[in-house]
Order: sequence, then structure tokens, then C-alpha cells
Amino acid sequence: MAVLFISDLHLSSSRPGINQVFFQFLRGRAVQAPDLYILGDLFEYWAGDDDIGDPFNAKVVAALAECARGGTRILVMHGNRDFLFGPAFAQASGAQLVGDPVVLDLFGKKTVLTHGDALCTDDREYQAFRTEVRSESWKRAFLAQPLPERKRRIAALRARSEIEKKRKPAEIMDVNSGAVESLLRAHGYPRLIHGHTHRPARHEHRVDGRVCERWVLTDWYESGGVLVCDEKGCRAEKL
Ligand code: MN
Repeated sequence: MAVLFISDLHLSSSRPGINQVFFQFLRGRAVQAPDLYILGDLFEYWAGDDDIGDPFNAKVVAALAECARGGTRILVMHGNRDFLFGPAFAQASGAQLVGDPVVLDLFGKKTVLTHGDALCTDDREYQAFRTEVRSESWKRAFLAQPLPERKRRIAALRARSEIEKKRKPAEIMDVNSGAVESLLRAHGYPRLIHGHTHRPARHEHRVDGRVCERWVLTDWYESGGVLVCDEKGCRAEKL
């Protein structure tokens, strides 16, 4: 029985094709798995748990809940797009919210899971923004605003981020190898699985003479994809 890892689906009502791939995945592959880890950016954005009533959000939440009722443990990590998932989302979707990073024993192999944005330390502007918006005081103040106002502010932030992504050199939006090595060292040289950078690959890092495997999950822009891990190891599969 393999454990499944996905991230960076960026689900929105504007991409019906990939949404169908996701719903089929939940009804097929995922419901047969013991555990499904969603390592952030499930949604293109999440304005707060009071937006569960949006028809598209409700459909995704219901599909997750059906998969959870089928016996799959669904573990959701916050991404930079959906870090406002709260207890009401978890309750409605049957998912369990997990911290970042998470350490687990995956078929006897110690494995660390993270969304990945915290590893992009070369992008100092982004890290400053991340620190600000992840603070409890920022989240409290933001969630206190009416939902339509929050959506307007998110749209403005996304527009700015699109402009900045074009301006920033591609290298600074990838993980910093020093940050990766620090994380691996801090956790005793485990396997690492993350998303966020949209650069799916298997890397090897030699840290203090130890070789660590790093898997980067695919985004769901062109097609879906899942990392499948069992006692033999991990492999990336297209959906
Ligand atoms: Mn991300």
C-alpha cells in the first residue's frame, strides 16, 4: 500500500480539465491509498474558511470528504496560496492540517515534508512578505475584513506577484542549497519531499558525507502528477 504525495494543484474554477483529473484521482488512486499528503497550494488561493460556501470550493471540499470517508487519511499542509486553511476547512473536508515541516517514518525511511517556500531564502523580499503574512496578528486582522474585501486584496497581491515573478531572476525563486542542507542536517539526513518551485525532479544532496534524496513534486498545470512511495522507494507518476 503506497503513500501518495501531491502539491501545487492551484485548483480554481477556471481550469475545469485539471479539476476533473483531481476528482478522478480522489475517487480512484487516492481512495485506495492509506495516506494522501497534500503539501500546499491545493487551491489557487484561499481567502478564509468562510469561503467554503463558494460553489467551486464546496465541490472540492465535498470530494475530499468523500475520499476521507472512503478510509484515506488526508493530511494537508499550508502552501503560500492557502495558508489560511483553518479548523472549519479541516472539519468540512475530513482532512487533517499538519505543520511545516513534518517528519515521518515512511516505510522505515525517515522523511521530511515541507511546502518548499521557506527554502527559497535567496528571495529576500518574498521571505519578508512570508514572515509578515504568516504572523498571527496579520492573519487575525486580514480575516476580520469582509470576504469580498479579502478577495480584492488577494487579487491585488497575485497581480503584483505575477509582475515580480517576471522581474526576478529564475535562480532566486528556486530553493537555496544551503537552506536545504541545513534542513537535512537538522533532521538527521532524511529523505526530503517538497513542492512550491514547480520544478519536478529527484535530486541528491551530499551533506556532511551523507547522501540525501530530495523529491520535488510537480505542479498540476499541464497535467496532474503524484509521488508514490512504498517500501521500495518513491517514484513520480503522471495522471
Ligand atoms: Mn507554493
